[in-house]
Amino acid sequence: MALFREVADLAETLAAEPGRLKKRAAIAKAIAAVHAAAPESDDAGLFALYLSGTPFAEADPRKLNAGGALLTKALLSVSGATSAALHAAYKRHGDLGAAAFDLLHDREQGSRIRDQALALDEVATAFAAMVTAKTTAARAALVEGLLRRATPLEAKYLLKLMSGDMRIGVKQSLVEEAIAVAAEAPVAEVRNAVMLEADLASALRRAFAGTLAEARMRLFHPLGFMLASPVDSPEEAAERFANKQNAASVEAFLEDKYDGMRAQVHCGDAEQPGRVTIYSRNREDVTESFPDLAEAFAQVREPLIFDGEILGWDIKAGRALPFAVLGQRIGRKRVSNEWRQQVPVVFIAFDLMYAGGELLLNLPLGERRNRLEAAAERLVEKLRSPLTVDERKSAAQTAMFMQPDGEGVERMILSPARLVQSAEDIERAYADARARANEGVMLKAAASEYQPGRRGLAWVKLKRELATLDVVVTGAELGHGKRAGILSDYTFAVRSADSELLNVGKAYSGLTDAEIAEMSAWMMEHTLEDQGYFRTVEPLMVLEVAFNNIMRSNRHASGFALRFPRIIRIRTDKPVSEIDTVERVEEIYQSQVDKPVENATSH
Ligand code: AMP
Repeated sequence: MALFREVADLAETLAAEPGRLKKRAAIAKAIAAVHAAAPESDDAGLFALYLSGTPFAEADPRKLNAGGALLTKALLSVSGATSAALHAAYKRHGDLGAAAFDLLHDREQGSRIRDQALALDEVATAFAAMVTAKTTAARAALVEGLLRRATPLEAKYLLKLMSGDMRIGVKQSLVEEAIAVAAEAPVAEVRNAVMLEADLASALRRAFAGTLAEARMRLFHPLGFMLASPVDSPEEAAERFANKQNAASVEAFLEDKYDGMRAQVHCGDAEQPGRVTIYSRNREDVTESFPDLAEAFAQVREPLIFDGEILGWDIKAGRALPFAVLGQRIGRKRVSNEWRQQVPVVFIAFDLMYAGGELLLNLPLGERRNRLEAAAERLVEKLRSPLTVDERKSAAQTAMFMQPDGEGVERMILSPARLVQSAEDIERAYADARARANEGVMLKAAASEYQPGRRGLAWVKLKRELATLDVVVTGAELGHGKRAGILSDYTFAVRSADSELLNVGKAYSGLTDAEIAEMSAWMMEHTLEDQGYFRTVEPLMVLEVAFNNIMRSNRHASGFALRFPRIIRIRTDKPVSEIDTVERVEEIYQSQVDKPVENATSH
């Protein structure tokens, strides 16, 4: 019977061990030992799963439903600590698990006799019960039950595991390697099994049993998304894909870059007719927010996985609505007819990842594209759903009552793609894309494989930044995690006509750790007012920031907000008197093709 203590002890050791190889060896040794002790049990599988920081296998849709508030409350109750003590401990570490260790350690100091050490399968049982718990109170009681039986170190890692944030420098891929080492199996086969079945414990079982080759693809768990690297100019893009034999031609497909929400659609499983799952880029199941799409894909009767982009769609004009409009629908759990009508959505398909019982990732893009086009041709008439539904009926009923072919909104649109010729060609296509209110263009190497979860060079994106702004920092906020105790989030301002400083945004990304440390120290020195987490600082530090869009907003005094702001550099060369003005912000705002409205959420 393996104990949770073994996970906690190893996690603590790994957190302090920077060497990847040493980490891998330590994990492999532990896995081999747990497996040897009870080869028939689930222990080694659970051990690998928990160490990789997930309470359930990826293919398992269950969720613990234990947010920060619930975990914090349980910790307060079990530790008997005051909120102030918890707050202080949290501030020291920026992490609830580490805070728990301090609080419980203080309480413990040698006093306690534990009846029985916590076994891995007991943790698994408690997690399963949390999923089905009817009330928050019942769920909290389960968490408290676990914490009461835990040592401070176990509590630390139980909380980290439950909040899905281990921070021990162990990615799933490292655990996969360790499984391969422990079971003396090829790592590529372990990885492949994990990709197909999305179940680390099952891969581990297979690795020890020698059945990795028998793993088969299952639908309804997200595959990694392939991402694109940025290029700055059409020339650079053309160069990337230039044909070595014939310098004049380029071997890449060109598509518009849509400003919507990346999504992967799974549908058509013969054993579960009508089941559809839509995953977002961060691997969440977002099907609930897009019933109109799900209804359409529910009619597919062949197993398929599509990659594409969900867009708000102007049905009459046949073009995308600005991201900010779609943004209002993203995250909604119940989508009323009003929303279905106000922001109709479509799925723009640009890749086919699975079809005919076969994963297509290793095929060249050209071939995947052919199959995508063929699938779209077979399905296009099916992939419709009504603009609005009779809300008294279920979606399945509505779909059944839909007349065949030709009625309702076409919900899947094939992303037009064509082989590109030259830099000028790309330049023109970019301008056309912008005129269609799309963000820019994507270029994808015609011979490239689909690399799940990778930002490679086979796909590049060309979107010009809007002009950058020079701003001055007016305030700073303490960061979290490894930036706990460091002022790492900066609020910044532009100048008004009468030289007042008006805030326009907040950014934390773009600087190196060393730069942030330096900035933080500087801001501690130049604090005007310390409000705990936030400090206003003397407006002396000038930054150049880039961003994707400007929108009107009441969030900041300038009346504008920047979307996805990032710091490009610290401008020690520029005095505050020369920073950009609100007028300049207005000008950039007006120059945007699609002017985002307030309320936009992030991708
Ligand atoms: P970025 O978010 O700037 O890293 O750009 C990558 C994102 O572009 C992807 O996650 C997609 O959501 C989006 N995208 C838009 N159009 C396309 C397209 N035609 N092909 C691939 N990705 C696209």
